[in-house]
Amino acid sequence: MRKLSSQKNLYIGVDVGGTKIQASLITGLGSVIANYRCETPRNGSVVNGSVANGSAVNDSCGNNLIGRRSVETTLNAIEESIRILLREQNRTLNEIAGVGIAVPGVVQQETGLVVVTPNMNLSGVELGQRMKDRLGVPVAIGNDCNLGTLGECWLGSGRNTSSCVGIFIGTGIGAGIVFDNRILSGAGQAAGEIGHIISQIPCEHWRNHINATKHKQGIKSSKNSLPELSRCGCGNYGCFETFASRTAMERFIREAVERGAKSVITDLNGGTLEVIKSGAIAKALKANDKVVTLIVRYAAQVIGYACLTVRHLIDPEVIVLGGGVIEACQKFMMPIIDAVVANDQLPSAPGKRRILVSSLGDNAVVLGAVALVRSVHGSNPLRKTHRIIPKYPQLHFMAENVIHIADEPYTKDFFILSDGTIQPRLKLPKKNIHGFRLKDIRTVLSGGVDLIIFGSPCADEITLSEKCHDYLFRRGIDYRVLPLDEAVHLYNTVTVRHAAVWHFS
Ligand SMILES: [Zn+2]
Repeated sequence: MRKLSSQKNLYIGVDVGGTKIQASLITGLGSVIANYRCETPRNGSVVNGSVANGSAVNDSCGNNLIGRRSVETTLNAIEESIRILLREQNRTLNEIAGVGIAVPGVVQQETGLVVVTPNMNLSGVELGQRMKDRLGVPVAIGNDCNLGTLGECWLGSGRNTSSCVGIFIGTGIGAGIVFDNRILSGAGQAAGEIGHIISQIPCEHWRNHINATKHKQGIKSSKNSLPELSRCGCGNYGCFETFASRTAMERFIREAVERGAKSVITDLNGGTLEVIKSGAIAKALKANDKVVTLIVRYAAQVIGYACLTVRHLIDPEVIVLGGGVIEACQKFMMPIIDAVVANDQLPSAPGKRRILVSSLGDNAVVLGAVALVRSVHGSNPLRKTHRIIPKYPQLHFMAENVIHIADEPYTKDFFILSDGTIQPRLKLPKKNIHGFRLKDIRTVLSGGVDLIIFGSPCADEITLSEKCHDYLFRRGIDYRVLPLDEAVHLYNTVTVRHAAVWHFS
């Protein structure tokens, strides 16, 4: 990889999750150079050499020692993840222009205060200031789903738009809103809780009353009672999250199996139904498992209606769907979601808006964290005027299938990433000798692209597999498969953000 010339063009994005911490070294252009991952310390931290279980241990002033020490443990872990990342890359904090930190919870972006983190011990901690004191560089903090959306809007599927809503489907449903290139956090930092929009109104149905009265009078009533609603993690009933999150699907699957429905899911999930992994759900879909198919179809429809609600409320240019469930089951779920949205009957329904799948995956949050620290302590990279145009190399097509870059001949397969860096491409497996793989696409996708150019001497014989085509289509990314000379010409002349995969033999 090419080393960066500008010293202060490096940033760190940190995603502090309930179970793991990811720290990433990222350029101002948004290229992820390296990731470091470690486990988040559990709430019951080591006190005097023993693992505390959360019971009250107070000092002489009545302060809760465990709470206080756990906060220090978490802050230490965040700091350590940054220092290890830098050490592994032979970098120092002096080279870092800023650190962005994402936290799962309500965060006051302006002050750096964590208002509340339900699954962690950082509630009430002035995380921004505390980390700035420890690191000596500018620090900005934000909510993880907001930052995931900001990342997607900067370099992912929401790129080239100024309004984007991200909906992330995992154990819960998290979401974020970016409007006019900024996070919309609301008056009390609580905006964008799309997972907690009430989609089934938890009031007793008026028809039930009438039917009950009829019943008393001996008139046969029609079956029209409301289904029982589950209580959401937030305490309310009827939230989108209780119908379409992975936790909801787990509950529905367990219920069906308990009632005697036949399903392969227990076997696919290692003999248990306590926690059902997204991967096992995807495998069950592939195996045409009836129970799982019905339940995931229903969840996809619910997500479709959530997208409709979002469009009716704020009409963003793009809605980006992400998270483990979508990553694993997108092929099955996306057409169902699209169908619900396409069937919108509202006369003023916004047209030509797209619903796309996340392009950045696990890196969306750390990239959003960098976008945030850049906008707070510098310039907002989402604004067109502040966008840094990558320096692309000039390519020369020579005879005999050779490409020259800066007078250097290239005759073996290679990638040019979206920031213009050149990377070798490992030889293809024999069974697919002339093809391009999903792995190629994933390699060049980082850093945000509008167009991927596939150059090959046998371009005439190559079409991208349906899987690859679908992957790019769902992320709004254009592609061309061209003979080497035409591909070089297009690479040199195209003005959109682009990357290329070069295949010689
Ligand atoms: Zn809720």
